Amino acid sequence: MPAASVIGEPCVLLKLGEIVLKGKNRHQFEQRLQNNIRNALASTGVETVLWQRSGVIVIRAKSAAVDDVERVAKRLEDVMGIVIVHRCWRVDKTVEAMTQAALDMVGEHPASALGGSFAVRPRRRDKRFPITSAEIGVSVGSAINVKFGLPVNLKRPDLTVSIEVDRDEVFVYTDGTPGQGGLPVGSSGRGLVLMSGGIDSPVAAYRMMRRGLRVDYLHFSGMPFTGPESIYKAYALVRELDKFQGGSRLFVVPFGKAQQQIKAAGEDRLAIVAQRRLMLKTAEVLAERRKDGALITGDSLGQVASQTLINMTALDDAVDLPILRPLVGMDKSEIMDSARRIGTLSISELPDEDCCSILAPRRPETAAKIADLRQIEKRLDAEELAEQLADSVQEHHPVYGAE
Ligand code: ATP
Ligand code: MG
Repeated sequence: MPAASVIGEPCVLLKLGEIVLKGKNRHQFEQRLQNNIRNALASTGVETVLWQRSGVIVIRAKSAAVDDVERVAKRLEDVMGIVIVHRCWRVDKTVEAMTQAALDMVGEHPASALGGSFAVRPRRRDKRFPITSAEIGVSVGSAINVKFGLPVNLKRPDLTVSIEVDRDEVFVYTDGTPGQGGLPVGSSGRGLVLMSGGIDSPVAAYRMMRRGLRVDYLHFSGMPFTGPESIYKAYALVRELDKFQGGSRLFVVPFGKAQQQIKAAGEDRLAIVAQRRLMLKTAEVLAERRKDGALITGDSLGQVASQTLINMTALDDAVDLPILRPLVGMDKSEIMDSARRIGTLSISELPDEDCCSILAPRRPETAAKIADLRQIEKRLDAEELAEQLADSVQEHHPVYGAE
């Protein structure tokens, strides 16, 4: 952030991604994003003013303090639907003011210390402004060149200085930091994520939030036959993921007794797929109560025995709701990279006693027959059991940033 020599105020300027392609629905998407931004910023404690301008959103801190603006900018890097977060100065409509802001920003930028090249990208939204874009470029560019001795490179600059002349003011900013991209959470409806304590399901949740789904979470613990560790993990994961949507809910179902019933009701080799079907059926009951329109899992094709194509087909057969599997075509290493980037990997790697270890056949079936699974479910009265399990749910509200 530039030193105090700029006369004007620091602010954040957001570039939006696919929203700008939304034609008639665009207004709804913008409204949704603005609400999501306001909710995310409420937790920063910074009082802000938000403006929707043509194609961008500008956010000012009422305090006009650089630190507050920085806190706002950092928080917005996690809000879905924003492609780039620019730290920006809003200054008077004079060449002197824009030049001063540009000089200060370039002076603080790491690329300038390294002697990198730069380009000035001026743009006049207000065509009545008496100085043309080309003239602004030359004037500000030569001031930067004289002060820092940096070379101009219009094709591939190390540093870009953008200057946007608007109706009442000028915005000056350098390269921003990447946002999450995607669509605003809530613009695509709602889904229920089956959330283990593993690496995959948190990444699956992230990917669907990024496509605009608001998600609820459902975790099955092995209680009363395991400790509560897996619940703590699921809680910590949801708390971390809450930075992407806010207001997250985690439902926890004690699943140990049902697992024993499955074990008693069928062949050992089918137990894993049978239990996944019971999880899905329970999830469907909850999803209907919550009006969630899809179930989401972290399945990736071929990753483990239960994730063969035939077994996935047998899982789809268990429920009417669509099962979304955003990781289906991803490699484990790609999933781990995502998990690291979104902040869930270190939590997933903590030790716990997964409920699935209660049922761990030596050679799980890779080609489960639907008819066999339905037989087992008849003996279990699986539909009734799923209702009971859904009734036994405990609800938690993990909040990002809370202890
Ligand atoms: P993950 O890393 O997400 O645990 P995984 O590779 O261990 O996945 P499985 O254990 O076969 O694979 O689980 C596949 C999917 O089933 C998970 O991604 C998750 O969506 C769901 N699932 C598995 N166990 C549970 C659980 N205890 N509670 C809720 N969902 C679960
Ligand atoms: Mg797992």
